[in-house]
This record gives sequence, structure tokens and C-alpha cells, in this order.
Amino acid sequence: MTLLRSGSATDTGLVRSVNQDLAVESSNLFAVADGMGGHAGGEVAARMAVDTLGVVFGRQPTAGGLSEAVLEANATVWQHSLEHPELRGMGTTLTAVGLVQEDGHDVLALVNVGDSRSYRVHDGQMTLLTTDHSVAEEMVRSGELTEREAAVHPQRHILTRALGVSSDVAVDFWRLHPVRGDRYLLCSDGLTNELDDDQISQVLTTVADPREAADLLVRAARGHGGSDNITVIVVDVVLGEDDAPADAVDEAAPADLTGVVPAVESSNGATTATAAEVAPLAIPEAPTREPSRRERRRARRRQKRTARGRRLVTLRTVIYVVLLGAVVAGAFFVVKWYNTNSYFVGVDNNELVVYQGRIGGFLWFHPVAVDRTGVTTAEVPARYLGALDAGVEETSVTSAKCYVANLQSVEVAQTNPSLQTTQTTTTSVKGCG
Ligand code: MG
Repeated sequence: MTLLRSGSATDTGLVRSVNQDLAVESSNLFAVADGMGGHAGGEVAARMAVDTLGVVFGRQPTAGGLSEAVLEANATVWQHSLEHPELRGMGTTLTAVGLVQEDGHDVLALVNVGDSRSYRVHDGQMTLLTTDHSVAEEMVRSGELTEREAAVHPQRHILTRALGVSSDVAVDFWRLHPVRGDRYLLCSDGLTNELDDDQISQVLTTVADPREAADLLVRAARGHGGSDNITVIVVDVVLGEDDAPADAVDEAAPADLTGVVPAVESSNGATTATAAEVAPLAIPEAPTREPSRRERRRARRRQKRTARGRRLVTLRTVIYVVLLGAVVAGAFFVVKWYNTNSYFVGVDNNELVVYQGRIGGFLWFHPVAVDRTGVTTAEVPARYLGALDAGVEETSVTSAKCYVANLQSVEVAQTNPSLQTTQTTTTSVKGCG
């Protein structure tokens, strides 16, 4: 025998003017629908979906009946949108849990389409059961994005599956054992966009009353921005099995459930946290009355600023990398210029050689011989040899050659006293300009 106790809360949030979320709470059926589509389409889609779900599941309260109910809800919304062009494109997410009997045992049947979510808390650990059908989540699954990147990705709200947007829909399905003490959370993305799993888990593992927990979660989401409608249902298994079998839950759906995608246990990186691990949740004070027009404007501006801030971080990183590259490239060319515009005269194998580069080399640049003059050390005065061994700097190849020629003139002048005047002249024009 299974007994469930639940509590729910919903709120328009601080930015939207209407609430297109809907919660269904009965003794054996719990569902959250998050409608989408302009011209009241979202409200219509969510309302038609949950109404159809309730009626069909009420007629056939089994696992198969729940799946049938989702397919019928899809068909109803789709058909209505075909008949009312102004509602074309409307649709809704749906995550629902039904308490059903199978082979004399109670089973919790879970279905999901879209990005509303279902979590379970078992032994103080919270696990995400459903998989978001959104562009960003698909990119996480294919390895293109991390969970952290997906949380701020501009396409995180674009759904890859929704109810009522086509004639057919694939539905994720799980079977779960109702274990006494377990707690389930069904919520729209208005909650998970504002609070992370640790913050949600902290409330679910510390607030005993399900209604109180639902209220607190909605208030916290409002306090963190409330940029979307927020809807929360908390369902406690008051009476149930004493513990789950080792391979507990989440069997694949039976093959005879038309349109149902057999789902395996959630493997999409669900985060879990124990009550002892999470930090206390600071719940900002949220307004208890409906926000005024000005407050809504402010909230919208805040949202835009946050989005802009996120873009800026990325832009800043790009600019930083580009500037860093420019500085490195600039430094490289300055060093290269410094080297290639330097010359000196040195000695190699008793021959005077003109080198390009710095004497002794600079960084990774080594001097390169650009002119072997053919003049030997024997042809220049001995008093210059020390300087030549160390290297004599010149401003250009021409200037360096001129210097070598002058050294020869000195030698010639010294060996021919009649040219003494020339010696004085030539030594004074060492660099030849
Ligand atoms: Mg939403």
C-alpha cells in the first residue's frame, strides 16, 4: 500500500505578466506543464494538456494509461492549433508522475516531454530523473557543451521536444518503486533557471512539510530573479516499500506502449548532494505582492544587464587573447629589427669579417657573416687587433667595409711616411658615415 502526500506552489515570477505554468495535484496524479506560444497559446496548450491527461488517466490509471494520456494530450493540443491559426505554434512541456498498480504492486510511472524536470530525493541524495529536451542539453549530451556552459547558453530555452507542436511526440517513460521516505519534485524551468541543484536539494532535505518546501522553493526562485513562471510540486511517499531493490528503478517502457521512447535511468550528468554537503541556502527576501510595472521593468533591465555581462566576459577574453598575441608578435619583430639592423667587424680565421647582428648574439639570434673582406689581421695595425677580436660595431655593411678599408689605409700610411697626413685623416673617418 502506498500513500502519497503532496504540496505545490506556483508564481508568475517578476518579469512575465501571465502565468502559463500549470500544476496538477491529486491523490494519484501529479503533473507540471509549462505552456509556450503567444496570444495566450501557452495557457491554452498547458490547460488542454493537463485536462486531457487527467481525464484519460482517470479512465485508465495504469502505466500504459498514463502514456496513452500523454499521447492524447499531444493530439488534442495539436488538433486545436490546426483549427485555430492564431494559436499555431503553441505547445507545452509536461512532466508527470502517476501512482499505478502493476501485478499487485504499486508503481510510480513517470513521463516527460520538454524541459520541466522531475527529481527524486532518496536517503538524503537528490537525483535528476528526467532529461531536458532542449538544444543546449542535446549539446551537453553530444559533448559540445559542459553543464555549466549549457546553464547560460542562449539556446537553453529552445526545446527539441514539446507537446502539441506536431501530430506525434516521443515520450520519455520510467517506472519507479515508491519507497517510504522518498521525496519527488516536479518543477518548471522557472525554478531550475534560478536555483542550482544544491540549493534545491538543501530545501528538499531540510523542510519536512511538502507544501512548505514548495512555497520556499518558489520564493527562493523569485528572490533570485524570478525571470520566468515558477511551478513546484513536492510529493512525499508517506507509506510504501521499506527500501528499493538494488537495481531499483527506471525500467524501460514496455514495447507495446506506442509512441513511448524506452528510457534508461537518467544519465545526463544529474548532480546529487547530501544534506550534510550543501551550504545553507540564502533565500533573498522576495516581494510578497505582485510586482509593479516599474519593478517588472527593472527586473527586465537587470536580466538584460546580466545577459550582456555574460557576453562581455566572452568578448573580453577574446580581446585579451588578441592583445596578448599582438604584444608577443610585436616584441618578436622589435627584437628581430634590433638584430638585423646591427653590424660589426670581427675576426674569423685571421680574416676581417663583417657580421650582421649583435656582438655575442642576442636572445635566439646569432650573428651572421655578411661579408668576408679578404683582409687579414696581418694587414692592419696591431693596436687595432684587440678591438677587432671583441668586435667593432658599425651602423651598416657599407660603413663596416669602409672601416676595414680605412684600417688598411692606416697600415699603408704607417709603412709610407710620406702619407703621414693621410693616416691622421683616415683614422678620424673610421665609420665613413
Ligand atoms: Mg518556463
